Formats: sequence, C-alpha cells, structure tokens
Amino acid sequence: MDCIFCKIIKGEIPSTKVYEDESMYAFRDINPEAPVHVLVIPKEHIESMDKITPENSAVVAKIFEKIPAIAAEAGVTNGYRVISNCGPDAGQTVFHLHFHILGGETLPAHLLG
Ligand code: 5GP
Ligand code: ZN
Repeated sequence: MDCIFCKIIKGEIPSTKVYEDESMYAFRDINPEAPVHVLVIPKEHIESMDKITPENSAVVAKIFEKIPAIAAEAGVTNGYRVISNCGPDAGQTVFHLHFHILGGETLPAHLLG
C-alpha cells in the first residue's frame, strides 16, 4: 500500500519521533503551523475518521489517553488544540487517520478558537 504514514511507521521515511508504543506513533509535522505541531497516528492503517468502527476504535481511545503526555513531551506548557481533518472539505491530504496537536503559542481564533 502506498501510504506515506505507514512508511513513516516502518521507518522507510525518516521522521522526528515524539512518542511510540505498540499501537500508536507520534512525530513532528514536516510543515509546522505552530511552534509545536505533532501528528499522532494509529499503527493500524485507518483511512480517516469516517473509517472508525467498533472493531478498530480502541486505538482512538488510547491515542486520546496519551495526547496530554505527548503534548507535554513535545513542549506544550500552556494549552493545545487537537484537529483531525476528514475528507475534501476539511482539506485532508494524507489518508491515514491522524490527529494534529498544535500549541506553543496563542493559536489563531479562526474556526475553533
Ligand atoms: P492533513 O492535511 O491530511 O490533515 O495533514 C497532513 C499533514 O501531514 C500535514 O500537516 C503535512 O505537513 C504532514 N506531512 C505530510 N507528509 C509528511 C511527511 O513526510 N513527514 C511529516 N513529518 N509530516 C508530513
Ligand atoms: Zn497508512
């Protein structure tokens, strides 16, 4: 399968790791939109939030349990925002489920702020 994030998980494409365990991988976004910009992904290939099911949703809960520690490890001290783009209107560009953690500055209020 030609998935850039699956290749990152396998180490075939280099990345700057923030956290890893048996079910998830967290790494710095290559094109950061805030001083702290980390992507958290399940190791299992799930295309997007639209493809979360009762069979694969446990990893999503695990990711959300870990996000505070991942954000702290990445340098966040004063709050952060979590975003997942799903589908064309949201501008999803990589079709492997991922959660953006953004922080390190007062984030723009546009949309969700
Ligand atoms: P989306 O637009 O799908 O929500 O987010 C995809 C994100 O993946 C973008 O923020 C983009 O900068 C990031 N990205 C794409 N390719 C790579 C890569 O090869 N390495 C890293 N670290 N981030 C990537
Ligand atoms: Zn993938």
